[in-house]
Amino acid sequence: MEAWNSRLFKAEENGKTVYTVRLGAVQDSKILEEEFEGVKIVVQAGDYSPLLANVNKELEKAVEFAANDNQKQMIQKYIEHFKSGSLDAHKDASRFWVKDCGPVVESYIGFIENYRDPAGTRAEFEGFVSCVNKETSKKFQTLVSRAEELLTRLPWGAEYEKDKFLKPDFTALEVIYYGGSMIPSGINIPNYDEIRQNEGFKNVSLGNMKQCFKKYFKESFEVQVGLHELLGHGSGKLFQQDGEKLNFDKTKVKNLITGEPVTWYDEGETWSSKFGQLGNAYEECRAEAVGYYLCCYPDILQIFGFEGQVADDVKYTNWLNEIRAGLVCLEFYQADAKKWGQAHSWARYVLLRVALAAGQGFVSIEECVDENGKPDLKFSLDRTKIDSVGKPAIGNFLKLLQVYKSTGDVAGGSKLFNEWGAVDSKAARWRETVISRRKPRRIFVQSNTVLTNDKVELKKYEATHAGVIQSFVERYQSVEEILNLWEKDAKIFGL
Ligand SMILES: [Zn+2]
Repeated sequence: MEAWNSRLFKAEENGKTVYTVRLGAVQDSKILEEEFEGVKIVVQAGDYSPLLANVNKELEKAVEFAANDNQKQMIQKYIEHFKSGSLDAHKDASRFWVKDCGPVVESYIGFIENYRDPAGTRAEFEGFVSCVNKETSKKFQTLVSRAEELLTRLPWGAEYEKDKFLKPDFTALEVIYYGGSMIPSGINIPNYDEIRQNEGFKNVSLGNMKQCFKKYFKESFEVQVGLHELLGHGSGKLFQQDGEKLNFDKTKVKNLITGEPVTWYDEGETWSSKFGQLGNAYEECRAEAVGYYLCCYPDILQIFGFEGQVADDVKYTNWLNEIRAGLVCLEFYQADAKKWGQAHSWARYVLLRVALAAGQGFVSIEECVDENGKPDLKFSLDRTKIDSVGKPAIGNFLKLLQVYKSTGDVAGGSKLFNEWGAVDSKAARWRETVISRRKPRRIFVQSNTVLTNDKVELKKYEATHAGVIQSFVERYQSVEEILNLWEKDAKIFGL
């Protein structure tokens, strides 16, 4: 038995302790009742039955609109899972889901993520529906097809680049509805290890989940994500020994920092076995830097449809947002433990430091107070110096990251990254200010779909509190059911 779709209750019955494992399911059925070491253990399906019955009612309808047989079988397995509580049925559904490559409508549903369970085992319910953004996907595809040529612009030679670039499928999705306690901007599922390792998984990048607080934020974010994922993570070569052979010419390739012959990964050594814990943040930093660097090329911005002044504004917005994010993310630095919990935040902070160190008035952070006398920070970036100061500084740092990575020089790489990623007393003060000015968590207003005359229509709501409430009211027509269920739960918990 696995815990994903379960809740555990403890009660006293006639002086005896009873543990009841309740499985989320439509059918109310006792699966097991046994005495064990003096206590009673019950496994009972039927938790959240009325809600899951609603889910299944909608899934039955979704079967009719499935694009192919694989999707049909996938949905039928979901239905079986929600009906009986059988986890194997959900695993089978996930297997069909993994095989469903590049669908126009992408969805996933069930008890999925276990972040919020203190024991990290029970999952919360979530479900999402998204569809391919064809326009953005076309841009990503152009980027894919030109990747080999664009990679030659990165600050290392052909010898440091892969012999053959594996062209991935790269699509952008727009969320139609995401039901869950939070909305991520990208996910990598299913979470069942045996399926991930043996049968595969999918990356789902959810494009419209970032806030658009600046005029060109959405545009610049699209460029950054495209460059980060494809030419960032996709670039660069590891020098490796494979059996008797090396995958590079030992007599020719030189270390771009020292000018000496390069070192390499011995048989069995990998990037993560060598760089370990540091690896995630280091690799995110490398990918992020590729984004800053390559967005400075007008012909690359042209792939995304930006020319002239607009292209220049998009480039500026990208640098501004990303480097500012390196300051704001100090929030995620754990000052007591003196470590970074979040790879992306650490990566961005490092690049902020690199941009600051470039000097010449390119980036500055000034400690000040706001109109109420509260500590504040003034962040500025001189857009006229992106090409002349910012790009060479980031490019040079990027080259160092790549050389240490390619040559498996974990000592050099760690030293570089830890030095630039250190939070000194000044940055610690910035962190205090950032935390004191932290904004409340954002809430999202989400659309509904309505079926009229066999046509699906997207119903949108105003981005206000009233809009959020309206969308919820229209989504859950029978609020009574939910209230009843909540009261039943409250009684169990003795609330
Ligand atoms: Zn990344």
